[in-house]
Amino acid sequence: MPLRLSTAQILELQRHALKVWPDEACGVLAGRGQAVTSIIPLPNAAADPKRSYRIDDRVLVETLRDIELKSQSLIGFYHSHPNGSHIPSPTDVRQAYYPDALYVIVGLRNRESPEVGAWSIRSGEVKPVEIQTGSLPAQPDEDEGDDLTPAQARAVILAIVLSVMLVLVIALSLLPPAPVIPSVTR
Ligand SMILES: [Zn+2]
Repeated sequence: MPLRLSTAQILELQRHALKVWPDEACGVLAGRGQAVTSIIPLPNAAADPKRSYRIDDRVLVETLRDIELKSQSLIGFYHSHPNGSHIPSPTDVRQAYYPDALYVIVGLRNRESPEVGAWSIRSGEVKPVEIQTGSLPAQPDEDEGDDLTPAQARAVILAIVLSVMLVLVIALSLLPPAPVIPSVTR
């Protein structure tokens, strides 16, 4: 299943990686299904942030709780290789503690054109994951556009007629009472 990351989100990852260069950047990707809706940059808590990255346990727990509160789920983690490629290092493979998460890596070997790769890492086995940057495919409901089905059109007309009648009833009820015509006595 491909990872859905918009072009703007990829730029955001690259910008974060370049901003903290020569340190490694790191953070979390959250969203729904495989579509990323939030990129959460986190501080690199590693003792030597130029050579590795580590997310503080407490920060991670708080981040995961925030994701849950927003009814999103954890999609994966990202980090950068300040002088390397977008391919997982042996350390990345060894420390991939979340088998269901995806690992996105920004390689800054060439800082003019950072490379971005997504990977699934399960018990030492590394597999590339396709990154889908296009806009989301239209939902079936949205295909209808502005065309109304005959039933919908009838419902709209009925609603208009009913609201006009309601306005009339209210207007009539607000009219002053009819004047009393004095009876003529002969
Ligand atoms: Zn790495």
